[in-house]
Amino acid sequence: TYQMFFTPVFEQNIVCGMVILMFDVSEKHRSEQIRREFSANVSHELKTPLTTIFGYSQIITNGIAKPEDVKGFAAKIEKESARLITLIDDIIALSNLEENGPAAQKENVSLKAVAAEVLESLEAQAAKRDILLTLAGGDTQVVANRRQMHELIFNLCDNALKYNKDGGSVTVTLSNNMLCVADTGIGIPPDSIDRLFERFYRVDKSHSKKVNGTGLGLSIVKHIVQSSGAEISVKSTLGEGSTFTVVFHQ
Ligand code: ADP
Repeated sequence: TYQMFFTPVFEQNIVCGMVILMFDVSEKHRSEQIRREFSANVSHELKTPLTTIFGYSQIITNGIAKPEDVKGFAAKIEKESARLITLIDDIIALSNLEENGPAAQKENVSLKAVAAEVLESLEAQAAKRDILLTLAGGDTQVVANRRQMHELIFNLCDNALKYNKDGGSVTVTLSNNMLCVADTGIGIPPDSIDRLFERFYRVDKSHSKKVNGTGLGLSIVKHIVQSSGAEISVKSTLGEGSTFTVVFHQ
């Protein structure tokens, strides 16, 4: 998309020419559109849990709720509040990355150490569903922001766990300049692969509703990948599992 400006050139009060200025505004236009969509999505995503919280708390404060129901309503309020906290944390993480993602302090990071930390933090959750977590291969040494690397690996492993089947497995493999997170989960339909990294995109809203999430995890991953000079790709077979591969060009 181009924006054009026309300026006549005068010589002794007579128009003798025309200067045409053309500006490429497509990038600007697109980023404004993304921003608008993001605000609309954020408002919607924040309002849904808040409406539930407001509804249940009104029933309780008005004294309409039967005493035996109060505990259940309070549990719903707790669950929706937890969802709001996760959502706000993700929105803050995303906006921090946009503001100063590439400028974040970098150091030598061993992805093996970070991946080991991440898998340990997910161990209890995995054990509950009999899912095996494995760290394989060698190590990937990168110059990057350690916290961002933790967030990147955590988001990929957390998804690999969330969208897995009971008794399945998650394998993180590291090699020279590559990190792979493979799962034996539900897989991703081919027509959704291109949209995975969009903000708030979730493959199957009805299924995803049962699995906690905000639809922002992979947008955060994409930002980190971009600001670390890396690339990410996805291979998936529906019903069999998915593999996310990050290649570092360092
Ligand atoms: P969410 O918070 O919903 O997990 P993400 O941005 O991390 O959001 O992921 C977007 C969507 O991509 C998820 O809702 C899910 O439908 C799909 N997805 C992500 N990772 C996997 C995976 N390993 N296996 C299957 N589906 C996945």
